[in-house]
Amino acid sequence: MTEHAVVIAGGGPAGMMLAAELALAKVDVAIVERRPDHVLAGSRAGGLHSRAIEVLDQRGVADRFLAEGQVAQVARFASTVLDMSDFPTRHPYSLGIWQNQIEQIMATWIAALPVRIHYAREVTGFAQDDTGVDVGLTDGQSLRAQYLVGCDGGRSVIRRAAGIEFPGWDPTRSNLIAEVELTEEPPQGIRHDAVGVHGLHRMEDGRTVRVVVTEQQLGPSSEPTLRDLSEALITVYGTDFGIHNPTWISRFTDMTRQAAAYRAGRVLLAGDAAHVHYPAGGQGLSLGVQDAVNLGWKLAQVVTRTSPESLLDTYQGERHPVAVRALQYTMAQGVLQRHDERIKALVDTVSELASMDEPRKRLAGLISGLDIHYDLGDGHPLLGRRMPDLDLVTADGPLRVFDLLHGAKPVLLNLGEPGGVDITPWADRVQLIDAEYVGPWELPVLGAVSAPTAVLIRPDGYVAWVGEGTHLGLTDALTTWFGPPTAGVAGTPQGGELGSAKVGLDEHSEAPSATVRGPA
Ligand SMILES: Cc1cc2nc3c(=O)[nH]c(=O)nc-3n(C[C@H](O)[C@H](O)[C@H](O)COP(=O)(O)OP(=O)(O)OC[C@H]3O[C@@H](n4cnc5c(N)ncnc54)[C@H](O)[C@@H]3O)c2cc1C
Repeated sequence: MTEHAVVIAGGGPAGMMLAAELALAKVDVAIVERRPDHVLAGSRAGGLHSRAIEVLDQRGVADRFLAEGQVAQVARFASTVLDMSDFPTRHPYSLGIWQNQIEQIMATWIAALPVRIHYAREVTGFAQDDTGVDVGLTDGQSLRAQYLVGCDGGRSVIRRAAGIEFPGWDPTRSNLIAEVELTEEPPQGIRHDAVGVHGLHRMEDGRTVRVVVTEQQLGPSSEPTLRDLSEALITVYGTDFGIHNPTWISRFTDMTRQAAAYRAGRVLLAGDAAHVHYPAGGQGLSLGVQDAVNLGWKLAQVVTRTSPESLLDTYQGERHPVAVRALQYTMAQGVLQRHDERIKALVDTVSELASMDEPRKRLAGLISGLDIHYDLGDGHPLLGRRMPDLDLVTADGPLRVFDLLHGAKPVLLNLGEPGGVDITPWADRVQLIDAEYVGPWELPVLGAVSAPTAVLIRPDGYVAWVGEGTHLGLTDALTTWFGPPTAGVAGTPQGGELGSAKVGLDEHSEAPSATVRGPA
């Protein structure tokens, strides 16, 4: 039986992102993908929001997506576009790019990484024991893994086989989505009515038109036909515009559900396997990519025995609440797409509020993902929030913070006295960088924050510890997030209590007591 450290069921955006994260962490990872290749029938999702672009930037690949897409202010609530161009990020916008393009770029990226992909094979189930998981495949063969991650979409076989509940809300309406040719010119713009939203959009090839139309009643679960699409268009527009030559017809609903648990023993869920919702607001793909980036380094550290298995509990602890908020937003935005007279009154009222500065910032922070705040306790506002991509000056020249994250390794950024921090017992895992930064510290939504003297940045770009003139709490943060100190390394007491180990720095002094540096 073939063995891998991690098997990922499903090579959509979440599965590919997770595979990249694990490969960067030098973990033996394989994807099992039902499709024969990464060609996706239909354009599907329409883009990425700001924080998802940032996490790709953290790995040095955002430019590949930016080169093929179009940046735009498209985050909206009710009918108000939430312009986020004043947010302090290099990417204060959303990126319009079709999912089939996103998947091609991701597939090219992971093809250059040590990721094994089993195409045209389907995971049928699994059996887990104390040491691993046997993953059953359609051809009767199986793979053995230490961990299995279900990135197999909303109808996840893995979620079901794990017995994980998927509570939420049944569908109340459905949309047909298709790519077709027309004999008549399509109308401009989006139309709203009492059932929902409708629109036709000519695609880049100038020939194909992407059609989205809300059905008058909730459609059946069977595959929709060209005739279904024609009837739905005639009901809304009085014509079907002469639709023909469909290359893709699908149906989606506003079913909204979230996995009750993101982990069952050695089995985890990410992306649509963990949460499904109406695509209003375009949250799904960006959420899945960020799930993967949160999980990847944690799973890698558990597999390599750098950290205890309990680190995986923080995956659900951090990502479940993020999806709760996203689901709430999509349900609200979904309702506000229905413009009967009463809801239209609500839309107008909410739109007016959303255009005010403070609500605009709050809503844009949520939709962009830039306001995500993992609960890592009290402290400096940076704690648990994304590290801004600052322009640093180092002994080796200018550097962006995100450059330091390309290898998905944690960073202790020392902005105080050069050589003033010693993390020798973690030097094999954590990069120590002495740098200067003279600009402002500003976070999206929150605004200006005080300048720290040091910051411990996790591989996913979130801040795990903030130094404000002392190293108080640094030892605990390093141990919590990156495992116990390496025994026998200078400065580390032998056999000491992990949580209280002193590692050559005095947590209570203003001045650090040693100046040994780890690798940059
Ligand atoms: C019609 C439609 C329109 C959408 N529009 C938008 C939008 O505008 N904006 C937006 O953000 N999101 C949109 N979404 C949602 C978005 O496409 C998803 O959120 C996103 O694809 C989730 O990525 P994922 O990797 O979690 O899952 P998926 O993309 O579903 O990937 C799952 C992968 O697993 C594979 N797979 C499934 N079962 C198995 C198995 N048993 N064994 C092996 N492989 C398996 C599948 O072939 C697939 O490649 C839309 C979705 C649909 C269906």
